[in-house]
Amino acid sequence: MVRRHIRGRGISDPRVLEAMAAVPREAFVAATLERRAYADGPLPIGEGQTISQPYVVAWMAEAAEVAARDRVLEVGTGSGYAAAVLGRLAEAVYTVERHAVLAETAAGRLRKLGCDNVQVRHGDGSGGWREHAPYDAIVVAAAGPGVPGALREQLNTGGRLVMPVGGRWATQRLVRERRLGAGGFTCEELGAVRFVPLVDDVC
Ligand code: SAH
Repeated sequence: MVRRHIRGRGISDPRVLEAMAAVPREAFVAATLERRAYADGPLPIGEGQTISQPYVVAWMAEAAEVAARDRVLEVGTGSGYAAAVLGRLAEAVYTVERHAVLAETAAGRLRKLGCDNVQVRHGDGSGGWREHAPYDAIVVAAAGPGVPGALREQLNTGGRLVMPVGGRWATQRLVRERRLGAGGFTCEELGAVRFVPLVDDVC
């Protein structure tokens, strides 16, 4: 999977490739889907949500430029797969999921796999997780019309935020914002993507 779908499609950061090779994707899907865990597509994880496509997880991790001492916020834990990958790249990962069942299942899987530097919280991630801010990198795994202000506020100077921006049916673009020393932000468009919507009510 890593050779064909990740490196073969242009991901070159050796730490990201190592993390993708190390995390067993089949551990994050139902037993009946394990056979499909290494194809490069999204898979259902319950509650109408999906585990992200491996290439997209790698792309976002690379775009977020996660370094070994970084503290990372993820919005949209889903299965916990991307959080496990980020956990191999960073010092600490804080991830928020709005579906209680998914948050609980992901936390259990991460514990079982020994991902001890990843903490899961059930709640609305569009407000971030203030207690552990500021973050060196923020990865948002659901699409919204714009970057929520609370997430920008919780980004460290020099920090990177990667998020799909766009409507539910309209084209979504993966964007990267970088917080500058003077307090401003730069914004880059990285390419077209397709994500489930960022929804701010918890269940
Ligand atoms: N990174 C996940 C992919 C998750 S799909 C993985 O590797 O499996 C996006 C997830 O974002 C869904 O689980 C959805 O429930 C969640 N989500 C959507 N809006 C949210 C919000 N406001 N706060 C937290 N989670 C949210």
